[in-house]
Amino acid sequence: MALSGIQIYKLLPQTNCKECGFPTCLAFAMKLAAKQVELSACPYVSEASKKQLAESAAPPIRLVTLKGAGTEVKAGNEVCLFRHEKTFYNKPGIFIRFKASDPDLAKKAAEADAYKVNYVGMDFTIDGFAVVGDADLGAAVKTIRGVTKRPLILIGDAAALQSGLSACGGETPLLYAADASNADALADLAKGKAALAVKADSLDDLADLTQKIQAKGVDDMVLSLTPCPLSQGERGWGEGNLSEWLERSTQVRRLALKNFRPLGYPVIAFPCDAKDEAAAAAQAIAKYAGFVVLSEFKPELLYPLLVLRENIYTDPQKPIQVQPGVYEINAPKPESPVLVTTNFSITYFAVANEVEGSGLPAWLVVTDAEGMSVLTAWAAGKFDAERIAKAIKGFDVASKVNRKRVVLPGHVAVLSGELEAELPDWEVRVGPREAVDLPAFMKQVLN
Ligand code: SF4
Repeated sequence: MALSGIQIYKLLPQTNCKECGFPTCLAFAMKLAAKQVELSACPYVSEASKKQLAESAAPPIRLVTLKGAGTEVKAGNEVCLFRHEKTFYNKPGIFIRFKASDPDLAKKAAEADAYKVNYVGMDFTIDGFAVVGDADLGAAVKTIRGVTKRPLILIGDAAALQSGLSACGGETPLLYAADASNADALADLAKGKAALAVKADSLDDLADLTQKIQAKGVDDMVLSLTPCPLSQGERGWGEGNLSEWLERSTQVRRLALKNFRPLGYPVIAFPCDAKDEAAAAAQAIAKYAGFVVLSEFKPELLYPLLVLRENIYTDPQKPIQVQPGVYEINAPKPESPVLVTTNFSITYFAVANEVEGSGLPAWLVVTDAEGMSVLTAWAAGKFDAERIAKAIKGFDVASKVNRKRVVLPGHVAVLSGELEAELPDWEVRVGPREAVDLPAFMKQVLN
């Protein structure tokens, strides 16, 4: 359980020495309770108190790391229910499911493994593979390892999991899944070698089972709120219980955030079993899944899910930014125009993509506007004539051109007079408001 400020204070030296930067131990304790400072700022905490404080400071949802033969995926360590309360930290890992018996396993896995798509300067890929099998699971793991290094989720009975785990070497896969009937055997199997998924009919039963498995020495667990994929006679998302899954997932997150440790683990979701896989996967990404298993490699489904995931797991207080500087588009020459924009990624790529697509050469000066878009930055005083002039001078743009023409975004036309005063030897032009109109502007107005 998290400790209150007063409880933390009782564990501190209470000498008020101020070395932590606070006037009293009580002030430091209050900040510690609010998770606004690190315990290490006080050099005088006893080892016994450190242990007690570390336990109370542990994140409410355990960090579980699946390791492949070269890459890894993490889930957990989340501290809030809604992103705007703080941020979400670890993006849910997206896995593609295969049957071990699939004769085209290697080919399909290699194709999915090679998938890479760029979104506003970031490369997205899938995170791993889930393999469902029986006695053939070990052989399937070896086949998959021939074409990918990504982490694995192994799905099968105890004998199949044993065979799959043996083929995993020093990796840390996720074993799916322990229930009341096989918890002891799978806990023995997973201990020290793998994370273990746990499933039960109710959250009460699930909480009992995780405590039982933890007592057997398994710390890394993942909660399954749906029945085992590909099993017969069990109710899955395919039966239309999307809302039930959402309810359970939200309850688990709420309880975990209240430091109910038996449910303080990441959740795995199987949209692959849903009637509407896209809707189920989107819900799982938005509402608390740590691992999401899809039925097959479908780029048309993956791309929107990866973009959705990125947007949900972007820290709302830290906009996605590109590096300020001068970007060369379509091999610009000294007579090419100089365009100006801010370093908000989406703004930068909107401008850069339009100009690049037009085939017209240009120098694109990206100013440091703390990751804000043009209008927001202007309103916040982060994109004004002084800053634009400073960027043009600082990046020595004048040495790259023989015709000093700078194009302002149309939304900040109001800055043109001030910019002329800041850059007296430059011709200041006002461009269009929207990036999509830049090619026509460049063709018709700048030539
Ligand atoms: S450094 Fe430690 S002992 Fe000193 S005031 Fe801060 S909390 Fe108290």
